[in-house]
Amino acid sequence: MSDGRPRRQAALRAVMTAHGVDGLLVSGAANLRYLTGFSGSAGHLLMTAQRAVLVTDFRYEVQGPADVGSAAEIRIERSNLWAGLRAAMATSQIERLGIDKARVTLADQEELRQAKGVGLVPLSGLVEPLRAAKDAGELLAIKAAAELAAAALAATIDFIRPGRTELQVAALLESNLRQRGSEWHPFQSIVASGPRSALPHARSTERAIEAGDLLVMDFGAQVDGYCSDITRTFVVGARADDRQRTTYEVVRQAQARARSGLKAGLTGREGDSLARDVINRAGMGPAFGHSLGHGLGLEVHESPRLSQTSETPLPAGAVVTVEPGVYFEGWGGVRIEDDVVLLADRAECLSDGLTDLMELV
Ligand code: ZN
Ligand code: ZN
Repeated sequence: MSDGRPRRQAALRAVMTAHGVDGLLVSGAANLRYLTGFSGSAGHLLMTAQRAVLVTDFRYEVQGPADVGSAAEIRIERSNLWAGLRAAMATSQIERLGIDKARVTLADQEELRQAKGVGLVPLSGLVEPLRAAKDAGELLAIKAAAELAAAALAATIDFIRPGRTELQVAALLESNLRQRGSEWHPFQSIVASGPRSALPHARSTERAIEAGDLLVMDFGAQVDGYCSDITRTFVVGARADDRQRTTYEVVRQAQARARSGLKAGLTGREGDSLARDVINRAGMGPAFGHSLGHGLGLEVHESPRLSQTSETPLPAGAVVTVEPGVYFEGWGGVRIEDDVVLLADRAECLSDGLTDLMELV
């Protein structure tokens, strides 16, 4: 697989030129990883027309160079990362330094102002849009993370039955994810049963699953830094009743329509509508209170968004989740989520896409 880092850095330099800055402080672990391969949690990346300097601390003295190779100079700072960054800036002739206004705090800015002769230029999100379209290596990692998540779920299914608590199911699922090679959980796994399945972002609790419960499981794996994000909804300990079956079928059809209709070039709103129209027609529109999906990559929520308020065309190569859901307080909820890559004329599913209703009896 070709090394995407030189191309990514060149693309960022073009964006810097367009914004009239001769230096850029890149913040955020995912951005650093994308541009340099650095997998640590603490560091700053200084980009100029000629240089990429990663300033990090002694914990990464060995790991940093192994991750980064020739993609950036590495400066290991034993006391103060900001002092190291200022020293790198002093040898880089920077006059206008772009900073990310969503990430650089006021305290950080005080540190940066100690650098002589450098003007700070607040900008927003220069790296994140570059990350939206994935290259072949990134797609392989996301697909591997999706396959790993499916395998972990398959190894957990037999354990799910009335009497098990949400936390017990979450614990086994997370153990299965890690044992199969997930680097970490990209987000707190959701295992929500019965009426609690109506909470779209429920925490897993000590509640014991009861026969006839809906069970929503939303979880993912992480491979080479890249995340998957899958949701499956089951009926546990009984056959689905009529309302469960009807509700599930509406969400399944909405998700299927979005998966078959999504493609690059649609706006986020048009993408969202593919599923929302089906749910609206079934009279469940008010119960679908969130957007259809979000970008997926080094972070579990990134560009682009599939939402009713997004008029931005979806870029080719973007990976997005497709996750319609309906939630009825006191009764329960159904959500079905898969991960797809957007191509010019269609979407290709990276997760297993197995969405038929499963009754765990
Ligand atoms: Zn999810
Ligand atoms: Zn999601």
